[in-house]
Order: sequence, then C-alpha cells, then structure tokens
Amino acid sequence: MIKVAKFGGSSVASAEQFKKVKSIVEADPTRRFVVVSAAGKRFSGDNKITDLLLLVNAHIEYHVDCTQLLKDIEARFVEIANELGLSYPIAQKFEEFSACVKSLSPEYIVSRGEWFTGQLMAEYLGLPFVDAADVIVFHHDGTVDLERTATAVREEVQQKGSFVLPGFYGSTVEGTIRLFQRGGGDISGAILARCLDADVYENWTDVSGFLAADPRIVDNPRTIHRITFDEMRELSYMGASVLQEEAIFPVREVGIPIQIKNTNEPEATGTTIRETAHERSHEHLITGIAGKRDFTAIHIQKAHLHNDVSYIRRALSVFERNGVSVEHIPTGVDSFGIVVSSSEVGDAIYSIVNDLRNELKPDAISVVDKLALISVVGRNMSRRAGTSGRIFGALGEAGINIRMITQSSQEISIIMGVNNEDFERAIKAIYDKFVGQELVEMGNGGVQ
Ligand code: ADP
Ligand code: ASP
Ligand code: MG
Repeated sequence: MIKVAKFGGSSVASAEQFKKVKSIVEADPTRRFVVVSAAGKRFSGDNKITDLLLLVNAHIEYHVDCTQLLKDIEARFVEIANELGLSYPIAQKFEEFSACVKSLSPEYIVSRGEWFTGQLMAEYLGLPFVDAADVIVFHHDGTVDLERTATAVREEVQQKGSFVLPGFYGSTVEGTIRLFQRGGGDISGAILARCLDADVYENWTDVSGFLAADPRIVDNPRTIHRITFDEMRELSYMGASVLQEEAIFPVREVGIPIQIKNTNEPEATGTTIRETAHERSHEHLITGIAGKRDFTAIHIQKAHLHNDVSYIRRALSVFERNGVSVEHIPTGVDSFGIVVSSSEVGDAIYSIVNDLRNELKPDAISVVDKLALISVVGRNMSRRAGTSGRIFGALGEAGINIRMITQSSQEISIIMGVNNEDFERAIKAIYDKFVGQELVEMGNGGVQ
C-alpha cells in the first residue's frame, strides 16, 4: 500500500501546522511520500509565501528595493525552524538566495517557497528531501514529460525509499525551473501518485472535504463524501478551488482515487473522488454548486440557422483568430450564444463583434457582459425529471433574472448565467432549495 500525501499552504503555514502534519504522516506507515506547498496563510489577512515571492519579482522588475520583503519571508521560515528546533541552516541558506535574487529567473524565485518549506519539512519528518527540479520534467510547451518523470521518480525511490517533495515546480531537461499554474502543488502530488502507482492520493487542506458550495458564500455547507471525477472537474473548473482543476488528470487515467482531508480535523471522513460513486439508497439530487463572475455572452440570431452547416464554425473561427477561448455555446432554434471570459476577451470584443457582423450577416447580434455563471452539478440529475424547473423556481422566488441557460452533454451539470451582482444570492437560493431542503427532510443535520 502506498499513499501520497500532499499538504497545502495552510497545512504548512506555521510550526503548529508542521506538528499536525507530522502526526498525520506518522499515524500511517503507508504515507511514505509527502508533497508540500509553500507555507500559506496562518490567519485571514496573512500572506502566502508564494504571493510574497511574486511580489519580490515585481519589485525586481520595477527596480524597487526588496530587502525588507526578503527579510520578512526569511523570518517566516526562521520562526518555523526555531520553534521546531531544526538544524537546517535556514537563515544562511535564505540569505545566500537573497544575495543573488536579482540574477535569478522569476520562476526560480517563486519556486523557493516550496523548496524551503520542503527542506524544513523533510528534516522535521526525518525523511530525505528530493528536489522537484530533479524529478518533475517539463516539456518546453509547459506540459509534463510523464515518462521521464516516472523514470526519475523510480530512481529516487530506489535510492531513498520514501521522501518529501516540494510541489508546484519542476524543470526542463536543461534545468530551467518551470511552475505549474497557481494551486499547482495539487498537480505535483497527482503526478507523483501516478508515477508511484499509489493506491490513493491524499490531498490535505483546511476543509473537511469538498463542500456542496463555497464556504465563503454559504454558511457551513454540507460535505460531499463521494464525488465522481467528472463532477469534480465541473465544480473545480467553475471555481470550487479546493483542488486545482488540472490535478485530476494524472490520477484519473490510471484509476487512483483522490481523498480530500482536513489537516486540522484528520478524523473527519473528507471526500473521496473516483471514476464512479457507489449508489446508495439515499442519493442526493445535486452534488454541488460552484460559479464564477465576469463572463461576456455574444448572442447571434439568424433565421434558419440550421440550414447552414458552417454557420457556427465560422462564428467560432472569429474567436479563434482573436485568440479567445470559448467557454460555452448555448443554442436555440434560430439563435446561439457564445460565452467567453470578460478578462480574456478584453477590448477584442469590438473587433470580434465587427467581424461577426461582416462575415456572418446575422439578423441580430447583442452582447451581455457582467455575467456570472453558476454550475449546478450532480450525477443523479439526469435521472430525475424537473430538476431544472426547481432551479429556475428557486431563482424566480429570489427575484433573480436568469440571463442564459445551458446544460452539459452528459447532463451532469446545468449552467445558468445571472447578473454579477446576483451571484452570491443565486448560489444561496439554489443551495437552500436543494441541499437545505434535503437536510431538513433527512432531519439529521446532513450526516449520511
Ligand atoms: P490548500 O492551501 O490546502 O491548497 P486551497 O486554498 O487551495 O487549500 O483550497 C481550500 C479552500 O478552497 C478552502 O479553504 C475553501 O475556502 C475553498 N473552497 C472553495 N470552494 C470550496 C468547496 N466547494 N469546498 C471546499 N472548499 C472550497
Ligand atoms: N504555492 C503555490 C500557490 O500558492 C502552489 C500551491 O499552493 O499549490 O499557488
Ligand atoms: Mg490549493
């Protein structure tokens, strides 16, 4: 049995958190591979080391002195090392890094957050440290070379048995440091689990699993104990940020389940993510709700649209030419919409609309912006009639205008567009209608 345990930023934010990590790792001898993020926030309003290192880059770029900033980062690491009585010469190592910081690449600088956190964690757990630059191999296009990575991982396992690996970065074969997207420690953990053919990928964070809604919007939402990879992907893509949205791919392909667990409450069941969720007599109608603000929808109307087989393709090619990716394409009989992220489309919206007018000669074209998208996700929705009616009813009762509706082809999600300012209210209204009501019906506070 092999478990890969990845600990997120808040799980390694302080000496106190390090102690919790140690007891979790020591409680189970199969937790032999530990992946860490950079120390994160200790309390709300605190800074993540990664954000501070990004700030260092900005200072360097604009030729602003960052001596004090570097000292503040150093102090965070020194405090952890001192409180835990570690012998790793953190102050000396960090000062060596600070002294040459201006000559280092931005990616290298940011990667030091996980590197130093990993060094401290390795000593504290009494495990060897493996530099991610030596095992996570990036292609030049930014994707991971899984074959090379797997070979490098196997070599490290042979030499060291078990180890601590810093997440979030790796390097090209030439040794240039590359980063994953933000939150990418989750991807490092998934890649390691895959390369080790682990039995489970544990993702330790600061919530007791994946919740049915963002806890910053809904008070004390229900924990989702079982969720499928597809549902998870829909929710994390739509902003349920507990797991980085790309992190499922490496493990999903080889059938390794992911378990989301809480470092601050290790006994809690958490969430298990698998290919299929086992049926239970009492299955929830919806699994979760997530959403994001700031989308723009371009609505195109054209009578007998379906007689022209190339029409939608030609419309999409206008977006392609402008380098804008399309999020959704809700379609009607004589009309369709194209939904894009407002920040991605930016001012290109003007030339896009112009080109669409000239090239497609629509009967009408209109643009709606400041749109928030909300995705209601559930593997059981397709089997039960009337789900969308209930969602619309919930929004209608709350006086919220629905600007757009679309459904994923596998029918595991229904996506609605509402005005940005209605975003939080809409999520609460849907949550109350479905999950809130189920909890009342079950009368047990949500224990499954
Ligand atoms: P880590 O630092 O451990 O990687 P993250 O901050 O990346 O943790 O992810 C955990 C956070 O995700 C939670 O603290 C919570 O605020 C947020 N979150 C957003 N949506 C959800 C959801 N549906 N379920 C659980 N957490 C969520
Ligand atoms: N430290 C990185 C970030 O803050 C990666 C991670 O936490 O997974 O984005
Ligand atoms: Mg994270």
